[in-house]
Amino acid sequence: MTPAPRTADFERRTADWLDVDAARARVLARAAALDPERVAIGEAVGRALAEQVVSSATLPPWDNSAMDGYAVRAEDVAGASPDRPVALDVVGVARAGQRTETTLGPGQAIRIMTGAPVPPGADTVVRVEDSDAEAEPGVVCVREGRDRGRHVRGAGRDMHEGEVLLRPGHAITPGAVGLLAAAGRDRVLVHGRPTVAILSTGDELRTAGRYEDVRAGLGVPDSNGPMLTAMVRAAGAHPVPLGIAEDDRAELTRLVTTGAECDVLVTVGGASMGDADLVKRVLDELGFEQDFWRVKMRPGSPFGFGALPVGGRRQHVFSLPGNPASAFVTFEIFARPFLLALAGHLRVHRRTVLCRSADTIRVPAPLTHFHRVSLSETADGLVARLTGSQGSGLVSGLARADGLAVIPPGVDVVEPGDPVRVVLLDGTLEPGDVA
Ligand code: AMP
Ligand code: MG
Repeated sequence: MTPAPRTADFERRTADWLDVDAARARVLARAAALDPERVAIGEAVGRALAEQVVSSATLPPWDNSAMDGYAVRAEDVAGASPDRPVALDVVGVARAGQRTETTLGPGQAIRIMTGAPVPPGADTVVRVEDSDAEAEPGVVCVREGRDRGRHVRGAGRDMHEGEVLLRPGHAITPGAVGLLAAAGRDRVLVHGRPTVAILSTGDELRTAGRYEDVRAGLGVPDSNGPMLTAMVRAAGAHPVPLGIAEDDRAELTRLVTTGAECDVLVTVGGASMGDADLVKRVLDELGFEQDFWRVKMRPGSPFGFGALPVGGRRQHVFSLPGNPASAFVTFEIFARPFLLALAGHLRVHRRTVLCRSADTIRVPAPLTHFHRVSLSETADGLVARLTGSQGSGLVSGLARADGLAVIPPGVDVVEPGDPVRVVLLDGTLEPGDVA
């Protein structure tokens, strides 16, 4: 019998050591948007459109007023000033949602509310502030000529019937909900939300209920399970936590199988080649088709990606390393954009911003490094500060991070004041920062 290859040999043979960009491209190449479903527009925020939205009306359908004031004829008020006000007869009132039939004649005005159609004959709205607001009822004195031709929102300024308003893949933001409502829609076709099974692995892991073991040095808190559940939810997908599997083949197999219904399986831990690292072996037994394993990054190099055949389809599998910072970074860089792509989004990457480093950052290896940083806005722009020690086993810096500073391979030191690109995890700022 041939002896099993030593771990180091095995690792050398099967590790792909992809660059981060290449690895991410391989992951995204596997993402096909999930089938669409129709939902109420109020429920659609965060989803991606699965249809083209076309306007079924011209809006506004008529010229209307942008101000509360008086609809007038520009030529009547041309020379008006506080010293030489122009007096006009008020012949009616125009309210939003009503059409005025009265046609304005020379020397006449109609009191008009914001959004009301501009009556025929009028071409200008004079603000209430530029009039005497009918000190004498039925007569308005216009004190300013400067409003001539102004405060009229032209018909069709917002949209024209038949115009494409939103394209497939557009993210439904609150603004898009407003636009859908304006276009007369109460339901909209969006792509499905991915379901994501999450499996923590490791004999040593303890939930809060067994925290005594952690205090006694007999266990490690399962921070990744809840963290990844939250990250899945924050990516707009539906998490299905499978619990914690001990480093035991049968149990790993059983728990992996309970997640078979899900579109995606995320395993965390057991991704290296230690004796207890059974995840890959168990997945192999289930027919795992590995796409790649190992990426030139830190933290997170033992990241792996592939698929399991389940019931005639392929379940996408992300195998994340167990150290919390490694799990966090690999989820952010690979799994999050993938989940957004499954959900049909065209924009799947976080925004990056160029910042100045507050610290000296030394990186020992020619890998892409991701450092957890907090950001503050100064008069000279954004400053990125390390959240503390960057050990991949540390959790505390993750909670304080506003972003991930990306140190590309080839850069081995970043000095204070040097530019550094940061992947934004959150867009808000500390109170007191320059806004
Ligand atoms: P592994 O990838 O299983 O070798 O784990 C690497 C390190 O991460 C070990 O110190 C584990 O105890 C730790 N770890 C693994 N899974 C988790 C988890 N779910 N939560 C917190 N730490 C973990
Ligand atoms: Mg482990």
